Amino acid sequence: MRKVLRKEKSGYAVGLIFCLIGLILLVVVSWKAWLHLSGSQLVLSDLWSLLWTEPLDFAFGVEFKLMHFTILGTALFLGGIVVLLLSRKWFTLAGESVLLTCPYCKNHWRASRAKGWAECPHCRQFVQPQVKKTG
Ligand SMILES: [Zn+2]
Repeated sequence: MRKVLRKEKSGYAVGLIFCLIGLILLVVVSWKAWLHLSGSQLVLSDLWSLLWTEPLDFAFGVEFKLMHFTILGTALFLGGIVVLLLSRKWFTLAGESVLLTCPYCKNHWRASRAKGWAECPHCRQFVQPQVKKTG
C-alpha cells in the first residue's frame, strides 16, 4: 500500500514537472510571438508563418523554430495532464486489490487492505485472514 502511494506521488511529481515545462515553453513562445506581432495587426496567418520562421536559440547554438517549441510545449503539457490522471487512477485501483482467504471455510473475499483480524463474510467467524494476492 505504501509502495503504491509512493508511486502515485512520483507520478504526480512527474506530471506536474511536465505540465510546468510545457507551460513555460508555451509562455516563452507566446512572449516571442507577442513581441513580434504587437506592432502589426495580429493575423492568424502571420502568427502561423512566424512560428515556422522565427528561431529561438537558447540551447547550445542549436537553432529551433518557435513551432518546435509550441509542439513540444503542448505535448509536454498534455502528457503531464495524462500522467496526473493516470497516477490518480493507480491510487484508487490500489485501494481495492487485496484478496483475503478465510482459514476456516477457505472462501475468498476482497478488501480495501490487508487486515490482521476481520470478520469472514462467508462463515461469520472472526478470523485472521491470509492475503492471497495483491495487485
Ligand atoms: Zn470463513
